[in-house]
Amino acid sequence: MSSVLQQAAERAQRYLEGLQRRAVAPDPHAVAALDALDTALPDTPSEPSDVLAQLDRYGSPATMAMAGPRFYGFVIGSALPAALAANWLASAWDQNTGYYNITPVTARLEQTALRWLLELLDLPRASGGAFVTGANVANFVGLAAARHAVLAQVGWKVEADGLFGAPPIHVLVGEEAHPTLIKSLGLLGLGRTRVTRIPADAQGRMRIGALPTAFSGPTIICTQVGNVNTGACDDVAAVRERAGSDVWLHVDGAFGLWARAAPSRHALVRGIDVADSWATDAHKWLNVPYDSGLAFVRDARALSAAMAITAEYLPTDSPWRNPSDFTPELSRRARGADVWAALKSLGRSGVAEMIERNCRQARRFAAALSGAGFDVLNDVVLNQVLVAFGDAARTQRTIAALQADGTCWCGGTVWQGRSAMRISVCSWATTDDDVERSIEAMIRVAHANV
Ligand SMILES: *Cc1c(COP(=O)(O)O)cnc(C)c1O
Repeated sequence: MSSVLQQAAERAQRYLEGLQRRAVAPDPHAVAALDALDTALPDTPSEPSDVLAQLDRYGSPATMAMAGPRFYGFVIGSALPAALAANWLASAWDQNTGYYNITPVTARLEQTALRWLLELLDLPRASGGAFVTGANVANFVGLAAARHAVLAQVGWKVEADGLFGAPPIHVLVGEEAHPTLIKSLGLLGLGRTRVTRIPADAQGRMRIGALPTAFSGPTIICTQVGNVNTGACDDVAAVRERAGSDVWLHVDGAFGLWARAAPSRHALVRGIDVADSWATDAHKWLNVPYDSGLAFVRDARALSAAMAITAEYLPTDSPWRNPSDFTPELSRRARGADVWAALKSLGRSGVAEMIERNCRQARRFAAALSGAGFDVLNDVVLNQVLVAFGDAARTQRTIAALQADGTCWCGGTVWQGRSAMRISVCSWATTDDDVERSIEAMIRVAHANV
């Protein structure tokens, strides 16, 4: 065991160091060579060190350098040193993390991390929390608690009796809701298209004036802080004011919620603590390894009502909360260990510095690219920049050429009818020098693709 773990650490270290020198996109030859891993089912055992060597030899060069400093696609964090190391140690612990009595350390780490997060993000301190795979499932969890609560209010027990014959739930979402939020509604039986869409403004924010002011019956309103293209944030406090206190208010804050931890960005997310549930990612802006998302629910009882189970063989009486009372999974990895380690290593000031720095770097991208004559399409309020290099064809050519160039990696999108390149700055590892190198590559490639 000890030698193969030693080798894994050495190979991982070599891999991470190599990210500085290699292209960000996977080497096409390496991708073609993945056939080497796709063998017939082995009949006989292999040495663990040979298994690892094959993974490294064929797998490592075929990765996208998301762990490195110049990947700006989607919204993707890297892995902080303390969080990655904690992830390794917690994998060695191999705790199933369902029950405090059985796996006390991982249950306590989640409790502590939850308390720290509620303080850092300034959300109601008694909220319940779930450590899940990502914002997709965090949305699902928040909305499952919502479904429980709004139906319980009218005397319907949805966990017991399901939705057949239940009073209808009115669901409102912003026009720009993330597709995973819509999928979560579908998984919960609330329907992907059986929703009222509220129109959005030019930045993608819900138009408050378009929201109804009176609601009858069970109602859930889904807001968003951090539009995946523009970074824009709904005015959650204004939604609450207009909609009143009877509706359940959910916030998808996959990355935008972290603006709460950065003093200069806080105004964007002022007042969002009036909501009932919040979903966010830790694998985006907190920079912990995949997979890691978080759901917070003001009324912890609504969350456990939706998630808890009992059985004679399960040890449910405990002095601390049982993590599985708050999550869709029973057994799962110790996500709280990486989150605890990230928060412990950064502290409040380190989180704020990272968020502020990435936002400042996004503004630098926008200023440099508009200075070079290209169109920045959004108000750069957070870490997202949308840039068009002329018409759609030239923008797409530029994105493809930039990906092939390898200095950095950006994806494309269409924003309100215009083709654009997305720049998402989300990594602890991105230095100002990385930003300048990336700007140079973008301008050079754009000029070569007129
Ligand atoms: C990324 C994102 C999601 C989905 O998060 P996953 O971590 O991929 O599950 C949901 N909502 C928003 C606004 C996002 O940016």
